[in-house]
Amino acid sequence: MIYLDYAATTPLDPRAEAAMAPFARAAFGNPSSLHAAGRAARAALDGARDTVADWLGCSISDVIFTSGGTESDNLALKGAARALRSRGTHVITTAVEHHAVLESCAALTRDGFQVTYLSPDRDGLISPDQVAAALTPETILVSVMMANNEIGTIQPIAEIGRLCRARRVVFHTDAVQAAGELPVRVRELSVDLLTVSAHKLYGPKGVGALYARGGTRLQPLLDGGGQEHERRAGTENVAGIVGFAEALRGMPDADEIARLRARRDRLLDGLLAIPDSRLHGSRSQRLANNANVAFAGVAGETLVLALDLEGIAAGTGAACAAGAVEPSHVIQALGYDRVRAREAVRFSLGRGTTAEEIDRTVEIVRRLVSHLRRHGGAERPTDSDGCAA
Ligand code: PLP
Repeated sequence: MIYLDYAATTPLDPRAEAAMAPFARAAFGNPSSLHAAGRAARAALDGARDTVADWLGCSISDVIFTSGGTESDNLALKGAARALRSRGTHVITTAVEHHAVLESCAALTRDGFQVTYLSPDRDGLISPDQVAAALTPETILVSVMMANNEIGTIQPIAEIGRLCRARRVVFHTDAVQAAGELPVRVRELSVDLLTVSAHKLYGPKGVGALYARGGTRLQPLLDGGGQEHERRAGTENVAGIVGFAEALRGMPDADEIARLRARRDRLLDGLLAIPDSRLHGSRSQRLANNANVAFAGVAGETLVLALDLEGIAAGTGAACAAGAVEPSHVIQALGYDRVRAREAVRFSLGRGTTAEEIDRTVEIVRRLVSHLRRHGGAERPTDSDGCAA
């Protein structure tokens, strides 16, 4: 199989797997227990927290371990908004966030909060000026993702962070996709809340963290024990957290990212040489591993399924929306219509991607696109650029 869906999830790093094994078996103690088995689990948890805090450049007490990116986003959005309700009820986010943020905002709206959704430009970028213009005296929280999961565009988080800090508005960023490539040193980003997820970083699934700057008020989502400094009840996933910390040792350096970018560019050049193919999102302000392309007249789902039959794993966008017929909200937010949004295919590269795989993928996509255009029931003339009216 040629796996080009690293934005959906990554394989577990063998070092992480090895580090986790004892905590799933012999060292199974509950970190809240007082006896030796409990203390051993606590020590492992403390060690992992140290590693994660070091990576984020924060205090250990600012790291809240969660069940992943979705929970961290929910805790950031609902937890902060509900805790700050007496100060105001206005929240700002963007139209291109992951569903974990968008659905948390929908829940806040049902609770009586007002949410402003900023629209990106055609390249998928949000400007700090847009955020500044949307702030009102009622604004308590701003949430802008660091890099988009479908089109890989990178937002100016440090600038938005400084702006929010100056206006004393809590600022959250979903760094789930960005964290594998970009520095997530929270002080340099001026963020109050930051979401990460282990399974996008060659760690295990079902574990993540929320950075919460000291003093940031959060109403917990769960009622229960006092774990995670009373911000996230429930016995910690010790094995998963240990695996998460261990996976961070494999983070790519600048040379590896440059190699990834070179392979991605090779892929993009090959795909964009196919007639009537178009790139979604900025070419320069994007993650090194992301290529999101539409082939006019070919539904993304059809192409992804045809690629699967050829042994190539790609995606149509957000993994959790897979199977749903609803076209990408991200591509539509760029100003394209629903047909164009359904044409989007995401290829996301990772550690294991080779130049040979890229060349083979381009060759197969070229063949399939031409075949599907001839026989697959093109949805529109191939020269239309899919702009929404
Ligand atoms: N946020 C972004 C930007 C993501 O890409 C994802 C996963 O696709 C999530 C949040 C959710 O993370 P998790 O799968 O750990 O719940």
